[in-house]
Amino acid sequence: MGEFRPDHTEEASVAVGSNGAQTDHRVGLVFDDRFLTHNTGLWLIQDRELYPFADPVPHVSSPGLVGRAKHLMDLAGLTDQMVRLHAVPVDDQALLAYHTPDYLARVAELAKAGGDAGEGAPLGPGGDRVARLAAGAALAGVDAVMQDRVRAAYALIRPPGHHAMADRGMGFCLFNNVVVAARHAQRAHGAEKVLVLDWDVHHGNGTQDAFYDDPTVLFISLHQEDLYPVGWGTIDQAGTGAGEGFTVNVPLPAGTGNRGYREAFERVVLPVVGRFAPDLILVSAGQDASVLDPLGRMCLTAGAYGEMTRLMMEVAAATCDGRLVITQEGGYAPQYAPYCSASIAEALVGPVEGVTPIPDPYQPRSEQMPTTRTLGLDAKRALNEAVAFHQRSWQL
Ligand SMILES: [Zn+2]
Repeated sequence: MGEFRPDHTEEASVAVGSNGAQTDHRVGLVFDDRFLTHNTGLWLIQDRELYPFADPVPHVSSPGLVGRAKHLMDLAGLTDQMVRLHAVPVDDQALLAYHTPDYLARVAELAKAGGDAGEGAPLGPGGDRVARLAAGAALAGVDAVMQDRVRAAYALIRPPGHHAMADRGMGFCLFNNVVVAARHAQRAHGAEKVLVLDWDVHHGNGTQDAFYDDPTVLFISLHQEDLYPVGWGTIDQAGTGAGEGFTVNVPLPAGTGNRGYREAFERVVLPVVGRFAPDLILVSAGQDASVLDPLGRMCLTAGAYGEMTRLMMEVAAATCDGRLVITQEGGYAPQYAPYCSASIAEALVGPVEGVTPIPDPYQPRSEQMPTTRTLGLDAKRALNEAVAFHQRSWQL
C-alpha cells in the first residue's frame, strides 16, 4: 500500500519508487483537493426543483467521483509513482483563447452566490476559482510534458470542460479545459499541431466548435450517437474552410462495448493520428462510456480504459516522443468510474514494483458481456460509415 501524501506538494523531480530507484516512467498527476469543493448541488438533471427524496441525491456530476478515483490510486500505490504537478488558477488571458469576455464576467458574477452558467452548468459560491483551477491543472500537465519534466500526465480535475462553449457553460462544464490547454501548448510552447481525442460518451461540442475551422488542432470524438448534446457529433460535421477534415466524428450505437471501441481505434483513431503526426496529444477522458454509467449505454469495462490509454501511449511514442496529457471529463458511476480512472493511471505508470494491480470489481461478468468480445452489427455499420466518410480526408 502506498502512504498518503499531502495533496499540495509539488515534486517536480523524477519519481522515486519505494525501493529508492528512479523509475523510467515519469508520469505527472495533477490533482487538488479544491476540486472537491466544486459544488454541483442536489438537484436531478432536468429537475431544478429538488425532488423530495427522503435521502437527498447529489447531482450526478458530484466532484466526489474524482476524489474517490484519487483515493483508489493512493491506496494502490499509484500516486506514489507519479510526479505531483502543481496547478494554479488560469488568468483571463488563458481563458480568452476561447471564451468571451462577457462570459468570464458572467461566471465571476454567478460565483458570488452560485447558479447556472448556461445550460446545466452548475457552480456554487466560489466556483469560478475552482473552474479556473481545473483549467490551470490541464495547463500544468501541458507545461510539464512540453518541458519534458514528465513523459505523460493525468489531470484528474473537476469541473469538466468539453461541453463548454465560448459564451456559455453546458453539460456540467464551465470552462473548456482541453481547448485552453491546446491553445496554451501552441502559444507558450510552440506546438504546431495538437491532437485532441475525446472518448467521453457525450460529444465534445465545445472542443469541436473551438477548432472547427482550424487545421492545426485535430479533433477526434468517439461518442454514443444521438445522446448529448442533441444535433452534435454527426459524421458529416467534419470541419470547415481550412479546417475541413480536421474534425473526425465517430458516433457509435448504444452498447458498442470493448470490441467496437478497439475497432474504432484500429480503423480510425490510430491511422488518423499517425498521419496527422501531432506535436502533442490531449485526451478528453470521460469514463461515462463504462458499463455501469447512469448517463451512457456503451458497456466499456475498466480494462478498456487502460487499453485505450496504452494505445494512445503507443501512438504518442510513434508520433510525438510520447507527449500525452489526459484530462478528466465525465464518468458518473459512483462504484465504477473510479476504477476506470485508476485503470488509466495504471496504464500510464505501467507495471512497477510497489503498485498493487487494481482489480475490476465487475469481473468476471464484464468479460462475459457479448460486446466485450464481439462486434455488434450496429457498431459494425457505424464504423463502416465513419471509415467511408473520413476516407475523403484521411487514408484509412
Ligand atoms: Zn460525458
